[in-house]
Parts: sequence; structure tokens; C-alpha cells
Amino acid sequence: MNKKKCPIMEKCGGCQYLGIPYEEQLRQKQQKLQKLLGNMVTLEPIIGMENPYYYRNKVTATFGRTKDGTVYAGIYEEKSHRLLKRSGCFLENELAGQIIDELTKMVKSFKWTVYNEKSGYGLIRHAMIRIARQTGEVMVILVTTSNILPGARNFARALKSRFPEITTIVQNVNDRQTTMVLGQRDIVLYGKGYIEDILCGCRFRLSPQSFYQINPVQTELLYRKALEYAGLEPIRNAPADSSSRPGDPSDSPAVRNHDGKRAVRVLDTYCGIGTIGICAAKYAGNVIGAELNREAVKDAKRNAERNGLTNIRFVNADATQFMTQMAEEKEPVDVLFMDPPRSGSTEEFLRAAIRLSPERIVYVSCGPDTLARDLKFVLRNSCYVVKRAVGVDMFPGTSHVECVVLMSRVEK
Ligand code: SAH
Repeated sequence: MNKKKCPIMEKCGGCQYLGIPYEEQLRQKQQKLQKLLGNMVTLEPIIGMENPYYYRNKVTATFGRTKDGTVYAGIYEEKSHRLLKRSGCFLENELAGQIIDELTKMVKSFKWTVYNEKSGYGLIRHAMIRIARQTGEVMVILVTTSNILPGARNFARALKSRFPEITTIVQNVNDRQTTMVLGQRDIVLYGKGYIEDILCGCRFRLSPQSFYQINPVQTELLYRKALEYAGLEPIRNAPADSSSRPGDPSDSPAVRNHDGKRAVRVLDTYCGIGTIGICAAKYAGNVIGAELNREAVKDAKRNAERNGLTNIRFVNADATQFMTQMAEEKEPVDVLFMDPPRSGSTEEFLRAAIRLSPERIVYVSCGPDTLARDLKFVLRNSCYVVKRAVGVDMFPGTSHVECVVLMSRVEK
């Protein structure tokens, strides 16, 4: 695998491993996991990416103006607030880069002012491009300080004719002094205001604000591993691919588990917009998703409906409290998925999970250090063993690594 060099990589800090050949990147990530988890489980070889470049499906740029007045699209320097001029990133989707270049020209031709953080003056702040890899749908979000965007209709028409791939254009209004890119208000300038992507044969709706994994190629592999570890195998020629339609009888949820005896009861905690639970629902008896963020729960419900699933429901709750309540009510769970943020889970969550006593716990982690800490806690405080573990390279060119772990309950 050849090396790539980006002129701003040292300053931007988004791709610490880019100068390292890909095989070596994978070796280092496997070694890191081995160090952290090797005394608990025999690690399977890390799942690398076939083409580890241009994978990011969400690209954000901030507009700035040089002293001589030239508009440029930039990215903030790591650990500082200095805006660096973007320079053809090797990790981001290439079409997104081209759209941002065009937007930069359009800011000038439409004579829009560029937002200045210090003075608080100016109209155009950021651009965000989101791409649905499987469906090819493209969403452009232009973040402005005011809901008045002069020439908005002409702008949308011109951008769409320049890039026919664009399926929706949204103006997002963010008038607050904040480092958050998006504000609360969306004005749809063209199309539906959202895009849809397909993952493991299921459709997911992405609004400007929705959380979605940034590397869909590897996410599919990650979820397939998680389902395999959960013992949720395809029942009939599934998982279906993009040809599957919601409501298709061959797509109907399983009422038995992989050994054909009993419907598997699944709990998907830290479920976000419901991706893991929805992918699992095809092969499970029933699924509950628990998530703290109310907007994500709304998306999850809509996604379940969109996929014609009737055996899944979502609760807007703290996962620890919800599991504690389930354990008190003696509601049985066979498989527990957990996918916490990088900071990992908590002892309270893990205690509640142990009390709930599922047959299998599948832990999906983007923070190997906190994963190791949490696994140690479970091993020390329960009769679970770590059965399987594998790294998945979700973020090539960076030092980050994702990991899936299976813990099984051992009867005493
Ligand atoms: N499984 C999802 C999202 C993982 S991100 C996916 O793969 O797309 C982690 C999620 O955990 C976030 O959506 C966050 O809002 C949620 N979260 C954080 N703390 C939580 C808690 N205590 N209870 C429930 N959800 C929580």
C-alpha cells in the first residue's frame, strides 16, 4: 500500500497515520488491541479496508476570508482555532470536496458575506456534505447566521445543475456564538431535506442532525460481526441487500432464533438512530432499543417503520435505569448489544447488565482503553467470560480503532 502525504496533515491532525503504509497501520492497531485485550481473549485478525481512502461520508468545511478578501474553505487546526485552507483530503469523499470547492466560488459570485467569529458579522459559516454510499444520495447543508439567504432559489438551481448527484439542499440557521456546526433550524431549499442510506439491507434516514457512522463500508462489516457474535444469523437467504423492500414477506422478522427453537430477545443499548437493533430485528424475535438522545429515538422509530419492522420498539431512557427496571420486572433478554461513546460504559451500567443476565453481551467499542477497563470489571464481578474479539478498521489513516467483543454467561 503506497504512502500518501497531505500538505496540512501535521497541522490538521485528522490523519495521524496517513504517512504510514496501510499494512503497517493495521499491524499497529492489532498490536494495540493485543496489548489491551490479549490477556482476556485470543484476538481474531483485524478487519482492514480494501481501499482505505476517501471513505468519510460526512465532510464539513468552515468558510473564511483572507486579508485581501479572498473567500476560502478551511478546517480548524488541531487544538487551536486557526482556520487552515482545505487541501484535497485523502480520507474524505472526493465528490464532497468538489462540491465544497464550488460552494466557495458561489459565496463570492452571490456576493455573500463570510461569518467572522470575532466580530460576529457575516452570513455564511459552514458547509456540510453528507453522502449515502449505497443509494448515491447527496445532501448539501449550507450553514448561515440568518434565515435570509439572498438568491437562495437561484443558488439551489445552479448548484444542482453543476452536480446532478445532489438530491437535497438544506440551509441551516446557526446564529449563536458556538463551536457547534449546526443550529436548530433547517430550511429546505431543494428536495426532501434528508437522504437515505442502506446498511445490511436496511434503510436509514439521515437528516442534517442525525448521527451516522462515517465509514459505511466498514460499518457493514462491523455490524455483521456483531450479529454473528450475537448468534443472530440470517434465516433465509438474508441479509437481504438493497433489493429488499420493506414489507417483502421474505424479509419478515424471524420468530425463532438461529437454532430454530426460540425467538431471541434482544436489547440494543446506546442505540443511536437504531442501526444495530434494526439490522438485528430481521433475525430476532423482538428487539428493544434504549437511547438517551430524544431526537435519535425519533429517527430510530421512523427507521423501524421505514423498514416495515413490527418487532422492534425504542425507549428514550438512560440505558442503566432501563436495564435495572427490566431486571426488577424479570423481563428476559437473551442478547444485549452495547455501543457506548468513546468514554466507555459505567460501573452502574455494567452492574445492571450483569443483573439482567443475558446469555450473550456484544460490546461494540470505539475506545479500546475504556473497553479493556469495562471488560475487566465484568470479569471480576460476574460469571461472564470473554469469548471472541476482533478489531475493525473504521478509521484508516487515523490512530483510532473499533472493536467488537463477545461475552458469554457461564453457568456455575
Ligand atoms: N449504536 C449507534 C450509536 C452509538 S453512539 C450506532 O452505531 O450508530 C453512542 C450513543 O449512546 C449516542 O447516541 C448517545 O446519545 C448514547 N448514550 C450515551 N449515554 C447513554 C446512556 N446513559 N443511556 C442511553 N444512551 C446513551
